[in-house]
Amino acid sequence: MPDSETLHVAEWLGDGISAELSASVHQIAAALPIRVHFHPVDLSLAARRKDATACYDAALAAIRQHRVALKYPTVTEKESPNKVLRERCRFSVIHRPVASLPGVATRHDGQVDLHIIRIAVGGTYEDAGRRIGDDVAVSIRVIERRPSREAALYAFRLGRRLSCGVVSSSKHTIQRATDGLFEEIVLDVARQFGDVPHHSELFDALLYKLLLKPEAYRVVVTPNEYGDFLSDMACGMVGSIGLGASANYSFDDRGDVELAMFDPAGGTAPDIAGKGICNPSAALLAFGMLLTHSGFRGLGTIVDAAVRGAIAARESTRDLGGSCSTEQFTAAVARRLVPAG
Ligand code: ATP
Repeated sequence: MPDSETLHVAEWLGDGISAELSASVHQIAAALPIRVHFHPVDLSLAARRKDATACYDAALAAIRQHRVALKYPTVTEKESPNKVLRERCRFSVIHRPVASLPGVATRHDGQVDLHIIRIAVGGTYEDAGRRIGDDVAVSIRVIERRPSREAALYAFRLGRRLSCGVVSSSKHTIQRATDGLFEEIVLDVARQFGDVPHHSELFDALLYKLLLKPEAYRVVVTPNEYGDFLSDMACGMVGSIGLGASANYSFDDRGDVELAMFDPAGGTAPDIAGKGICNPSAALLAFGMLLTHSGFRGLGTIVDAAVRGAIAARESTRDLGGSCSTEQFTAAVARRLVPAG
């Protein structure tokens, strides 16, 4: 583990609780045995109202320089900053880990430890469609070779790292051209990974089986909209949509990650901003993913385990039924930053 190195991180600051989340991440970073240097970019609504183009240019320059960025929640006014940044950074794959959290109440008693890998572009989300007369509407669904291959490569590399198989899921028996192309590309990539088992499941069957036996699934790769649906359902299974983090990736021509952006799932929470009570778990889990991606795998695991440990011990913020302030929770996580074993 390259412990003695300095890690440079572009930090895309946003609105609402963004500053408090960032303070929590900085506190945890300072407790690690490496130097983490944050390079802030102001993406708040006030800054964007003044000069949105300059904000996005600065965000792009920072991630291009440092290769990794941590993004905090931003308000959407005219344009969605997430959409603008996804297009400008050419993010094509989203990785969303969803795992059961001891200490969080749930209606589902299975153990979920899932990595959802989703094509971040295309599917039905590219075209809002159009009305044809009063009674008919159509839209175009897009599946492209390059992002499909990038998602598949990412999924199989992750499967190899986690020593587990990969399930691809779509409706290829009905959407024969589009989902058929996706599955064909996944199969092609699977042939390069003889050591990683692969099978394909129809998306409706996957949802059913996942609810019955979540322990049977670890890495799932899907086209855009299926991954979106699956992510929210999986979050419902573990009892919280706001506790997760996700990673967005762009790739070079060889299929290696070029830029990586990590962000917490939740919103700006204006109702509690500035009160010192927000839950920084998702931001800390995003930071843990960033550490793992940057080669500090041991540290990423330690941060992840520390967040889960604090929640499991009920040293949590009010939204999870605890009584900790953001700072107290962060301190509880910091106390648990100990190497495994
Ligand atoms: P946005 O428009 O940015 O999505 P929002 O308030 O409409 O903001 P969320 O930010 O998702 O949507 O918040 C929904 C509810 O969850 C709010 O009551 C908010 O206070 C709460 N919430 C969101 N994030 C957190 C957090 N990190 N810690 C504690 N409560 C949170």
